Amino acid sequence: MTDTIPRLLRDAADRFGGAPAYVEGDRVLPFTQLHDLVRATAAGYRARGLEPGGRVVVWAPNSINWVVAALAVSYAGGTLVPVNSRYTGHEVADVVDRTGATLVLVADGFLGRTQVADLRAASDLARVADIIEITDLDAVAVPAGDLGVIDGVADAVSPDDVADILFTSGTTGRSKGAMSAHRQTIGVAMAWAELGGVRSEDRYLVVNPFFHSFGYKIGIVVGLLTGATLYPVATFDLDETMALIETAQISLLPGAPTIYQSLLNAPGRTDRDLSSLRLAVTGAAVVPVVLIERMRAPAPEGLGIDQVVTAFGMTEAVVATMCREDDSAETVATTCGRAIPGMEARIDAPDGEAGELLLRGDYVMLGYLDDPAATAEAIDADGWLHTGDVGTLDEAGNLRITDRLKDMYISGGFNVYPAEVEQALARLDGVADVAVVGVPDERMGEVGKAYVVRTDPGPTTGLTAEAVVAFCKERLANFKVPRHVEFVDGLPRNLSGKVLKTQLRSS
Ligand code: ATP
Ligand code: MG
Repeated sequence: MTDTIPRLLRDAADRFGGAPAYVEGDRVLPFTQLHDLVRATAAGYRARGLEPGGRVVVWAPNSINWVVAALAVSYAGGTLVPVNSRYTGHEVADVVDRTGATLVLVADGFLGRTQVADLRAASDLARVADIIEITDLDAVAVPAGDLGVIDGVADAVSPDDVADILFTSGTTGRSKGAMSAHRQTIGVAMAWAELGGVRSEDRYLVVNPFFHSFGYKIGIVVGLLTGATLYPVATFDLDETMALIETAQISLLPGAPTIYQSLLNAPGRTDRDLSSLRLAVTGAAVVPVVLIERMRAPAPEGLGIDQVVTAFGMTEAVVATMCREDDSAETVATTCGRAIPGMEARIDAPDGEAGELLLRGDYVMLGYLDDPAATAEAIDADGWLHTGDVGTLDEAGNLRITDRLKDMYISGGFNVYPAEVEQALARLDGVADVAVVGVPDERMGEVGKAYVVRTDPGPTTGLTAEAVVAFCKERLANFKVPRHVEFVDGLPRNLSGKVLKTQLRSS
């Protein structure tokens, strides 16, 4: 039974041998070599002080070396703590202090950067034993003859040990560290791979960051389970992506809806052969039906992707719901599918009404790092994870996310879900982007404030605040109509494209 990351790595080497596990530019890394490299690197980290149970921060953009470094942490019995590659040294120092990490693995060239100097200055250096560049694999590696000890350490890893601590995106407040056991990280990847029909012939372009649950568990771990070849990409570049899809015959391309939108609109797309694409997985508050239809439509009109599905996921439960292969474009666009095997979804409201989404099952995290109070608040006595997202379930069990509980505000005693107002305003000509938040109001308790990015910001030609309010009045109940409108140049967003409403509220 493959239920720890070290065993998974060994099984992958046995099953897929010389087949390519990773491709990055000219570098091709077969499964057997990946296994050898990880063992030698793990022994090196151990020689530098990593003990079983020790926590190791990985701070780097997607690359093959990220994978080797992360798997080596697991092989040495450590707990992987990946952090956002765009974090500043101060933010990483905060994670180092919160996790008590003894080792920090940084990207190529990071050591010379002020960010690392900031990390050294800000963190409790007495505990940070080492900061090592992940490209320095040879410098760390231990000769093959001396790997008996590390193989024994890897064998001693238990399926119930904490494999990883992944941080939430920090959309609604301070990022929280969600802990998962080896059996959970592998189990959810297995369930997803089965739903997507992933197999060893697949070539999988991973644009999702490895430091996020999707990129790590649904990327790296799925690759080891299935034998698919992974192509890690550090930053999304449209031309490079199209070229790679064509030359490498990429078949799996999960990502944010904007990726497919930009592929569809790319100049010169129809000169390219993108027909190798087989499976796309996406998800967001708003996915237009036409986008799903065009992704499925054969070239030249569309991208010709055989299976296009949406899913709901969060760091605390990785992937919880997913559409199935034969769902209609309408279902794929308007829902996030049904609970995956091993998970249950429920809405905390009377039948058919919107309420908080609750999740239970094998892949709900063990808890938040060092925060039993927050864990008890998130996971109730019956094991239900309170997601903080608001949605509905239809008769077939398909989940629709309507908003976030934290974004909801109460105006004159009525609940307002900003997503509804945003979806209405997105249809107004002249609106390029919009976000709505609740702001304090003496009379109503709270009222809506719309932050609008205009397509034409001209002082005389552009959209006016009056026009925005009038448009809402025609379409929405009065208590939902925003009382304040502010025009801005852009909205603050995080890496996965979510608007940072906390930042808007405090602006
Ligand atoms: P934080 O918990 O720190 O505030 P976050 O919740 O944004 O940040 P993640 O765990 O990365 O951090 O994101 C999970 C959230 O993303 C979900 O709770 C939900 O709000 C949103 N989300 C995920 N999938 C979908 C989807 N298919 N449709 C709409 N929203 C989604
Ligand atoms: Mg969250």
